[in-house]
Amino acid sequence: MNFYSLNKIAPNVSFKDAVIKGLAPDKGLYFPEKTTPLSKEFLNNIENYSNTEIAFEVIKQFVADEIPEKELKAIIEETLNFDFPIVSIEKNIAALELFHGPTMAFKDVGARFMARCLGYFNKEEKTAKVTVLVATSGDTGGAVASGFLGVEGVDVVILYPSGKVSDVQEKQLTTLGQNITALEVYGTFDDCQAMVKTAFLDEELIATKNLTSANSINVARWLPQMFYFFFAYKQLKSKNKDLIFSVPSGNFGNICAGLMAHKLGLPVKKFIAATNINDIVPNYMETGIYTPKPSKQTISNAMDVGDPSNFVRILEIFENDDSKLKEVLSSYSFSDKETQQAMKEIKEKYHYIADPHGAVGYLGLKKRGMDENEFGIFLETAHPVKFLNVVEPIINETIELPKQIKEVIDKQKVSINISSYEELKQFLVNA
Ligand SMILES: *Cc1c(COP(=O)(O)O)cnc(C)c1O
Repeated sequence: MNFYSLNKIAPNVSFKDAVIKGLAPDKGLYFPEKTTPLSKEFLNNIENYSNTEIAFEVIKQFVADEIPEKELKAIIEETLNFDFPIVSIEKNIAALELFHGPTMAFKDVGARFMARCLGYFNKEEKTAKVTVLVATSGDTGGAVASGFLGVEGVDVVILYPSGKVSDVQEKQLTTLGQNITALEVYGTFDDCQAMVKTAFLDEELIATKNLTSANSINVARWLPQMFYFFFAYKQLKSKNKDLIFSVPSGNFGNICAGLMAHKLGLPVKKFIAATNINDIVPNYMETGIYTPKPSKQTISNAMDVGDPSNFVRILEIFENDDSKLKEVLSSYSFSDKETQQAMKEIKEKYHYIADPHGAVGYLGLKKRGMDENEFGIFLETAHPVKFLNVVEPIINETIELPKQIKEVIDKQKVSINISSYEELKQFLVNA
């Protein structure tokens, strides 16, 4: 399968090259040249397929023959070695829990899949060593570190803002060793991201290093996020209701994957992109004008994004036709106060502990409202334990640490301090 750049200048590339490059040379995001809907036969019988079989059906047209069937199935099986349960909350609302992977956030799925694809390409051809360079405000770094740990031919360098990620998140980034290096930056997340961007544009550096990114602009992180929308459908199909998915959104990679799943034929009536006060997309849906703004800090900090990268892919899915887009997508924004109130309500009324991101998703369903024939699912994108200092005071209860967290919390942190781009460059050149 070939992928084209949404900036339409750079040449089309294979799946492999799209994964290795990350972003096209003209700075556009890659998008598949063609999508073929899945057969009615498959969708009507989805309950008879295992998760691995479903994922294989969903992804195979995008990977095509670039990874042989047997290897691709093995990659999928390793990627998906945890559960994706649906937990009932209210009569017509459930949470799709995406946090049962090693770092307890949905990003595990994309990161594990991408890591294994890169590992496969390297093994096949002994391509030059690839360096994955990534800036994180919290969850991305841990998922990427865990997903890429021990993958041959790939070094991972993670930049994170000193003192600005949670303790759990910091331990997940800094305790793995092997091919993972954590650079602790004296600055903000924006500083980390600016350094990474500078590195990708540094001609001298990219002449000697194969740099790639591992955020959701990479097709191998974005596309596997379609899998769990199908898993949810499999579990809910027998209800015979019109399904509505509410996705807490920041960079809009996750919801963009849901909309791709819909393009492949997944029967969903409506998608809701629920945001915090970083309301670029809700504004667009109302005014038709896309106005990026500097991000504002909130309690759902993995969604503090002022210029969501994947929104251009969503426009492409709907062929830049706003009326088609609005038939399938709605978008609403919520304040921290509303989010805290929702967390409290979900706990008190339904005895469920939502994390701040999931609570924003829940609010999206409430805002739209649902009739008798509809069933709403909000994505629980992270375990509440990752946001202890926000969650515990609201629910007035201590949360027990799951085993994935206990395993890292007492390990020794190892990081390298940097405070300028020059120091980053020096590190990369000498690595
Ligand atoms: C990354 C993240 C999001 C936002 O996902 P996008 O694909 O960037 O829209 C939501 N919740 C959590 C917990 C995250 O880590």
